[in-house]
This record gives sequence, C-alpha cells and structure tokens, in this order.
Amino acid sequence: MALILIVEDEQPINELVRRNLELVGHRCVSVYDGETAISEIQNQSYDLIVLDVMLPQADGFEVLREAKEVPTIFLTARDSLPDRIKGLSLGADDYLTKPFEMMELLARVEAVLRRTQKGLSVFEAGNVKIDWDGRQVFYKGQAVECTPKEYELLEVLVRNRNIALSRERLLELVWGYDFEGDTRTIDVHIQKLRKKLGWEHVIKTVYKLGYRLELRP
Ligand code: CA
Repeated sequence: MALILIVEDEQPINELVRRNLELVGHRCVSVYDGETAISEIQNQSYDLIVLDVMLPQADGFEVLREAKEVPTIFLTARDSLPDRIKGLSLGADDYLTKPFEMMELLARVEAVLRRTQKGLSVFEAGNVKIDWDGRQVFYKGQAVECTPKEYELLEVLVRNRNIALSRERLLELVWGYDFEGDTRTIDVHIQKLRKKLGWEHVIKTVYKLGYRLELRP
C-alpha cells in the first residue's frame, strides 16, 4: 500500500504505530530523532510521514520544513494549540493530539492517503472492489446494493483490516454511542456483508469478542 516514515522518539509509541500500520498492509520505517528523519526524507521517497513534534536533535517543525512535498500527519501534546497551528501552517496535512487511539490514527492515515494518492480512492481485494469516492461496492464486477450502515461497517472493517474489533466498538463506530439496540445488530449486518461479498471466510469471527477482516498483504 504506502511507504510510511514514523518519526517518534518514544520507542513504545513508535513500535505500536508501526505494528498497526503494518497490520493494515503498509510498509514502515521507524526513526527516533529529527536528523535521521531528515536524511531519510532526502534519500527515499515516502508516501506519508507520521511525525512527532518533540524530538531530539532537529524537532518536528524542522523536519516538516524538509518534508514539504510529503504528506504529513504530526503528533502534538494535548494542550498545545500553538504547535498545531504552526504545524498546519508549515504544510502538515493533519494532526493528532497525544494520547490518541490507534483506530483514530489509522482513520487519519487512510484519509490523507486517499487525498494524496490517486490509486487509493479504490480498494480491491480478490473479487471485492470499493470505490470510496462514489460509495459503491462491487462483487465480481457487479454493483452490490449496501444499506448505509452496511457500507459504514464495511468501511470500518477495511480501514482496520487484520485487527480484531469488538462488537461494542463496531457499534460505537458505526451506530454511535447513543445507539439503543444491542450487539446482535452487528451480527446481522456482518452476515449480510459476508453473503453479499463472498467473505464468509474473510470476515472472521473472533471468539467471545467480535470480528476481524482478514486480508493479508
Ligand atoms: Ca517525542
């Protein structure tokens, strides 16, 4: 999918980000300081940078200045409005405040890549094709009728592919926090998607938890 540079000096965060981006099929390079980041950007053409602002040696803003041509999502401390404004004015595409959830990062990464990489407005896996711009789903070349909720559920599964998602989380993400129904709603919609897309063995049931869309790169 995409080649992503992760610039973050806190090793556990760097590794967590890397693991999640690799799970959904991206290739990643991890670096831990600003100077190494700058030399990476000069030597290799990346599709996206996930960039922490507070870094040893050169800080995130210096890296941003070097990375003008590369789409960038930067990470700031929660209360740092000036950092956010500065980052966006230096040309960053989006930002996340720490601490953030991996799902939120995956959503931002996908959104930025869709905006900046032509190929990513369409998703293809086996017989299934999704046109994100047109909100259209195809199975073996034929358009598939999906209800709005089926489509949103599909989008969440694809965005978080290879990651186990609980029924409760899926309900929150697709139906919202104030939804009154129960988690069987998810099961019903999953059955429909499995059938419509021939994904009986691709949308895996995760025992006592929920579901995982299994699409190995
Ligand atoms: Ca840092």
